[in-house]
Amino acid sequence: MSDDCIFCSIVDGEIPARIVHETDDVVAFLDANPLARGHTLVIPKTHAQHVGDLDDDLAAALFAAVTELTPHVQSTVGADGANVGINDGEAAGQEVPHAHVHIIPRFEGDGGAPLHAVGGERPDLSDDELDAVADAIAE
Ligand code: 5GP
Ligand code: ZN
Repeated sequence: MSDDCIFCSIVDGEIPARIVHETDDVVAFLDANPLARGHTLVIPKTHAQHVGDLDDDLAAALFAAVTELTPHVQSTVGADGANVGINDGEAAGQEVPHAHVHIIPRFEGDGGAPLHAVGGERPDLSDDELDAVADAIAE
């Protein structure tokens, strides 16, 4: 629990939410300002800002809930697809500093965009630069 964290307050029942799924480790609820019908947030009950802060068991529980809920939410609202994503860090657009996975149902012709639209200006990387980045990440 973190003081002044909206999502911790939802976990504790201090702030109401439209909860759609709950286990010992995670809770899922409708986004209060949905991008689409059925827009759902899945969060770990333990406070952590970044996905990299989650221990393996909690990360597994979170992803298990996401994989279970994504097709379920999608079929419930009659969507044709879904974007599943995490804004990790302020630079990536994270506004609530408690890790959460967005499940955003998508409908044919809804005017939205793929996840590729979230990036800024695309870098023009040479093969050598790509090799160097891959090597550095793999190290
Ligand atoms: P972020 O930009 O941090 O990835 O997304 C935060 C999301 O949380 C936003 O989509 C916003 O609509 C949602 N949100 C913010 N405050 C509340 C709240 O009090 N209740 C619910 N259900 N959703 C919230
Ligand atoms: Zn929190």
